[in-house]
Amino acid sequence: MKKSDKVAKYIFVAGGVMSSIGKGIACSSIGKILQSKGFKVTAIKIDPYINVDAGTMNPIEHGEVFVTNDGTECDQDIGNYERFLNVDLGSDNYITTGRVYQTVINKERNLGYGGKCVEVVPDIPNEVISRIEKASRRSKADFVLIEIGGTVGEYQNLLFLEAARMMKIKKPKDIIFVLVSYLPIPRMVGEMKTKPTQYAVRSLNMAGIQPDFILARGDKPLDKPRKKKISIFCNVLEENVISAPDADPIYEIPIIFEKENLGNKILKKAGMKPKNSNLKDLLKLLRTIKTSAKPVKIGVVGKYFKTGKFTLMDSYISVIEAIKHAAWFYKRRPEIFWLDSEKYEENPKELIKLKNYDGIIVPGGFGSRGVEGKIKAIGFCRKNKIPYLGLCLGMQLAVIEFARNICKLNNANSTEFLPNCKENVIDVMPDQKVLLREKRYGGTMRLGEYGCKIKPKTATFEAYGAKTISERHRHRYELNNAFKEVLESKDMIMAGENPERNLVEIIELGGHPFFVGTQFHPELKSRPLNPHPLFKEFVKACLKNK
Ligand code: GLN
Repeated sequence: MKKSDKVAKYIFVAGGVMSSIGKGIACSSIGKILQSKGFKVTAIKIDPYINVDAGTMNPIEHGEVFVTNDGTECDQDIGNYERFLNVDLGSDNYITTGRVYQTVINKERNLGYGGKCVEVVPDIPNEVISRIEKASRRSKADFVLIEIGGTVGEYQNLLFLEAARMMKIKKPKDIIFVLVSYLPIPRMVGEMKTKPTQYAVRSLNMAGIQPDFILARGDKPLDKPRKKKISIFCNVLEENVISAPDADPIYEIPIIFEKENLGNKILKKAGMKPKNSNLKDLLKLLRTIKTSAKPVKIGVVGKYFKTGKFTLMDSYISVIEAIKHAAWFYKRRPEIFWLDSEKYEENPKELIKLKNYDGIIVPGGFGSRGVEGKIKAIGFCRKNKIPYLGLCLGMQLAVIEFARNICKLNNANSTEFLPNCKENVIDVMPDQKVLLREKRYGGTMRLGEYGCKIKPKTATFEAYGAKTISERHRHRYELNNAFKEVLESKDMIMAGENPERNLVEIIELGGHPFFVGTQFHPELKSRPLNPHPLFKEFVKACLKNK
């Protein structure tokens, strides 16, 4: 170790009983608390799937694909960390089984193991550890939070628990284990049950790990008798069994944890003392959220939310968050409505109902399903002067709608949906053609942060108050510059362009209160304490539209 290397503390967060109990939010909240006490924090998400990254997964299957500045297509929890911790993360912060095996196999092929027999244990956990340590070194953080995806007892994440166990042997004083567990309250019993948590701890023990803290997730707070029971049966100090009831908004969770003094308890375990304690920013935000009574109604026209009889909002989590952040900025209560685009295809009469909302968003998407319905909805917003924000696909479809109905290019389309289309106002980017032909799909889109020059006197310029910006991308298709002139001649404004490639990044419409489409995804950069300028401008227009 170099003298300059900082000794970080590592907090592993695993989940018990079942998935989707808010491990990511719990992890982010611990990070936020430690930050508020004066420490530098970073966070890593480990996902046990074979996929090298989240980019090749269907959002209905996996939820939103979050994209970082460096173009990593990752799990939505990275988005949670960025929003809670107000930091920019990247490839270092995301580990999957696929990534780990890929590195080990490549190293083996290059004789990187010097003729040794390469084995699952210890070589796979060792690679996990080396990734965690690399992230720690590069971030120079005091605390590295590592969230292990899935649930303890699952076959899939065993090797990650093994890595955590091995790290504990190496650095016994620097490792803390947190189990986020679920305590059900069966309706017929009416009582919170601790047994599943006891089994979860036993599974963790079988992996050689003893939790230092248990965060007890449930509909309700944990009471004294159950705290005691968990403490005795799970071998955890009673004061380290922390109640983690459901909370809305999620930004209240750090405050709930702090009521039980979780931050100082973790610091004590790490042998450290708080440098200060300041959650004022969060408290102020929470006060605003709670006192914002008047609604702003935003309709989101998409397709990734139907799973059987349930509505899944995970696919658009950053869009939802960005709307919320901007609404709170204007002291409004965000009301978000899920509008399935296919219903506008089946029954165009449904379109009139778009007037019930203060503004409409068409978010990103892939493939032709639902596209014509979205185009109809966009046309309705254009004609009826309803504030419109199009994100990536939402921008491309706005161009198609405008080309068809205003420029009279009746067959205008994107080559994504109609490969041989002649009026290809949206076309595949030249460098993407070969990738698609050779089926090289994984991690090959135009990803991550790129610069954009903004035209003065546009709504976008008004929003950003800057001539150059940079935003995050994830796309293969772009506005076809061969059609720029005809679009501009009818008052479509090319409000932002990437100077290196002359790629249109932002379109606007003249004579409309707010009609903006972006090739990038502004939602990925919005933070609760720093809402995104375009979402703010959009909500401002929505409030005027009321
Ligand atoms: N499918 C479109 C493209 O690849 C839009 C992508 C998106 O909305 N993220 O360009």
